[in-house]
Amino acid sequence: MTAKVCAYCKEEVRLTREHIWPNGFLKRGDFDLKFSERAGKTFRADLVIADVCEPCNNGVLSNLDDHACQLYDRRFSKYVEPLASVKFSYDYSKFCRWLLKVSFNSARSVERDLEVFERHISYILDGVRPRAFAVSTYSIAPSSFKRQPDGVIEKLYPQMARCGPVIPVSVNPRKFYQSYVTRIIQINSFAFILCLPRHSETSVRQCQNALRAFPGQLLHPSGEMRIGPPAMATLEAADGIDNWPEPRG
Ligand SMILES: [Zn+2]
Repeated sequence: MTAKVCAYCKEEVRLTREHIWPNGFLKRGDFDLKFSERAGKTFRADLVIADVCEPCNNGVLSNLDDHACQLYDRRFSKYVEPLASVKFSYDYSKFCRWLLKVSFNSARSVERDLEVFERHISYILDGVRPRAFAVSTYSIAPSSFKRQPDGVIEKLYPQMARCGPVIPVSVNPRKFYQSYVTRIIQINSFAFILCLPRHSETSVRQCQNALRAFPGQLLHPSGEMRIGPPAMATLEAADGIDNWPEPRG
């Protein structure tokens, strides 16, 4: 442990190791594909960063992790079949703050877009809602294929947890990147895209519109919505990891 400044509360205290993905969360999933954006490589998901103080780590951040683990047990542990839509109930504030926390942790591991995340720390810690941000979601169905040589249909389920930057292919990527930070957090059948504006004058509506460039629908602030039917299948979703363009400023 070293005496540096905590990435969250900015206190100069002894720092502890914080998992990018919650520890309890990882214990629940037997993820095939563990992805970190660091060097664009696939890494084990139990990456840690060592710049969080104990009160933050074991207090508010741990509370947010608890909520994510409950959601894992209730929802993310169950896959979504083609054409199905499923009910999703969540605490909107806690879940958005958790998505932001995971993204901020992951972004710090590569020191990317940090000034944008810094503006959202008071939301993560205290629930002080930022002026503008938006989250959208879509689901991923299993891919089906014929097993050789007997022709039996087998399914490949989207067993993965990953977090990384994402830029839509349907718009001018450079222009988009100059206006927004967009990151995907995918847990098994469920993908969430977080949109944070780079400029302070950007409105909530503009963030929401920016998310239209991706599949899916906005995460409803009521904490209750249906997700689906799936926007893509496992192979397409996993393929995206290599195909997503690398954002450049
Ligand atoms: Zn702290």
